[in-house]
Amino acid sequence: MPYKVTLIPGDGIGPEIIEATKKVLAATGIEFDWDERIVGQKAQDKFGTPLPDNVLESIKKNRVALKGPVTTPMGTGFRSVNVALRQSLDLYACLRPCKIYPGAPTLYKNVDIVIVRENTEDLYSGIEFARGSKEAAKLSKLIKDSTKTETREDSGYSIKVISETASRRIVKFAFEYARANKRKKVTAAHKANILKFSDGIFLTAARDVAREYQDIHFEDVVIDALCMRLARNPQQYDVIVLPNPYGDIVSDLCAGIIGGLGLAPGANLSDNIAVFEPTHGSAPKYAGLNKVNPMAMMLSATMMLRHLGETKAANNLEKAISDIIAEGKSVTYDLKTDPNQPAATTSEVAEAVIKKLKGQGG
Ligand code: NAD
Repeated sequence: MPYKVTLIPGDGIGPEIIEATKKVLAATGIEFDWDERIVGQKAQDKFGTPLPDNVLESIKKNRVALKGPVTTPMGTGFRSVNVALRQSLDLYACLRPCKIYPGAPTLYKNVDIVIVRENTEDLYSGIEFARGSKEAAKLSKLIKDSTKTETREDSGYSIKVISETASRRIVKFAFEYARANKRKKVTAAHKANILKFSDGIFLTAARDVAREYQDIHFEDVVIDALCMRLARNPQQYDVIVLPNPYGDIVSDLCAGIIGGLGLAPGANLSDNIAVFEPTHGSAPKYAGLNKVNPMAMMLSATMMLRHLGETKAANNLEKAISDIIAEGKSVTYDLKTDPNQPAATTSEVAEAVIKKLKGQGG
């Protein structure tokens, strides 16, 4: 029986990296019955909403989705489909492995970090008040009355919300992940020295949950120090658990450490639904050029295969990708150390991965 999986090609570079990934998945021998859905501007034009109910229904029914990136208008326009999807389906854990594959263009060696990002609250709660609105004026008055602090009239407000419930849940997820994957250390990052009432809750919850996992080393670190230490010595980190916006930023930092966004896969998980998508966005300037690296999308697909219990196919696909990175020939521009060497196209990378898979016998 083929696996029924919701497929969201997204936009920008999404459709081309999804196409490449579908092809390599077919070459693993695992069969899929793709339930393709549209979101973002295309859905806005067709259904009058960027995240139609039929997409959520499809994911709820299939419980697994493979998703390309989706563009979010900057500053104005509809809210992020990516954030709305995670919140609507309560995909509270964002899992982003950042591992160096030999041959990847990086200054570092032996990095194998897993980022666990809280995915539902903090500055992404979507509670915002536009500059000049009645609500902004009310909030400004409340702030003045309760803290004696004047906010400037031309201010807009984005509210940071952190709950103990979501903090405990994500830290528990990080420890359970560490235990199941034989990881040795969990680091919780925060800014509780300044943000006492929000990050303070996250830190207290993290320390408390850590007591239940005596077999795994725990440490906490302020987010600025974490960034400095990641730049100097990323090898000291194993699993890092972070509130939502720090998780977003540190994911890109770690992607940079391992050789770029083209190599950084991810998954958004609830207790019974999984949506697999790379860390990177829709890179609109490269859309339709058959140029970008499909490997982050393909590696997200290996995470999906593992989630489905197809461990052998996942290992084969990851090995094929890693062999191609090591050889350095059939790789896209972002993995070329010498810019004068010709780079492979997105579809040529897919062909090279398929050839490797066939060479492995499936
Ligand atoms: P981005 O990740 O799309 O791209 C930034 C740069 O990284 C690109 O210009 C390119 O140089 C490089 N890059 C990204 N993916 C690559 C790949 N596969 N191969 C090679 N190089 C790659 O970030 P951005 O430009 O800030 O965002 C573009 C749009 O994507 C925005 O609308 C943003 O909101 C959206 N976005 C979506 C998601 C998602 O769908 N989950 C995630 C992040 C950003």
